[in-house]
Amino acid sequence: MTKLQEVLDEIALEAASATDRGAVAHYIPELAKVDPAHFGIAVALPDGQVLTAGNAETPFSIQSVSKVFTLSLALGKLGDSLWARVGREPSGNPFNSIVQLEQEKGRPRNPFINAGAIVIADLILSGHQPREAIGEIVRFIRYLADDDTILIDERVARSETAHGDRNASLAHFMRAFGSIDNPVDHVLGVYFHQCAIAMSCHQLARAGLYLASRGCNPLTGMQVVPVERARRINAIMLMCGHYDGSGEFAFRVGLPGKSGVGGGILAIAPGVASIGVWSPGLDTVGNSKLGTAALEQLTRRMEWSVFGA
Ligand code: GLN
Repeated sequence: MTKLQEVLDEIALEAASATDRGAVAHYIPELAKVDPAHFGIAVALPDGQVLTAGNAETPFSIQSVSKVFTLSLALGKLGDSLWARVGREPSGNPFNSIVQLEQEKGRPRNPFINAGAIVIADLILSGHQPREAIGEIVRFIRYLADDDTILIDERVARSETAHGDRNASLAHFMRAFGSIDNPVDHVLGVYFHQCAIAMSCHQLARAGLYLASRGCNPLTGMQVVPVERARRINAIMLMCGHYDGSGEFAFRVGLPGKSGVGGGILAIAPGVASIGVWSPGLDTVGNSKLGTAALEQLTRRMEWSVFGA
């Protein structure tokens, strides 16, 4: 057995017996039903191998991890003109915060906080019906993972729509500043559906491989984004991917990463690996508690931190 497989097995064993697992997201009722006992991890390597441990094949709600993929898609459509609409600085605020938006006149700090991702959804939607934009996002993620079985969990999408007042406030507030072009309910429809995409750790690790491989997906040989863009997306993941926990994630794990309130994290070791990890219990800022601990162990033992061993 390789060292990597040994490390993954040990991490999964340790996670199985952890008692303090954090709390599942309650503000989306459908996510509150998920069993916090789950834990899965998958590591995709540039040669196409995928090593796994735990519940690595169980689909979960990717939530904000989707923001990496919609940013990649929107950059492909708009190029760098996208940056006129959204910044690329860490926010230092919770993912659903509204305070900075007023001071900064409706231009979100970065594409990974909710406000920024809602602007990205608006950009993808322009010129299409919501159904077409949602279809485009799902097709893009299937293409990245090279897996046509990836679906949207409609129950999660409905649950979030029914309890989406906070995101609706962000969207209306931004539309008042002219930051959103399309009708708010259409934009939110796209945003809630992208968050409700269900993927396993295995699928997530495969989908992220282009960011570990200079923008090229080694599974398909397709150049998904130019090499410079992959480097920049990684930079934004490192600085902004865990909201007001991004500094802590860099300190403990040392990799570009993007979390979601479903308990998933996509982490990238550039040139080395794409990692999908899932444990539904969250810490106080909404990032997977055991998922972060697992990545901390993995990078320490494999010496994968971008900051050195
Ligand atoms: N769909 C969630 C929301 O908008 C995504 C948040 C997250 O994963 N951090 O609140």
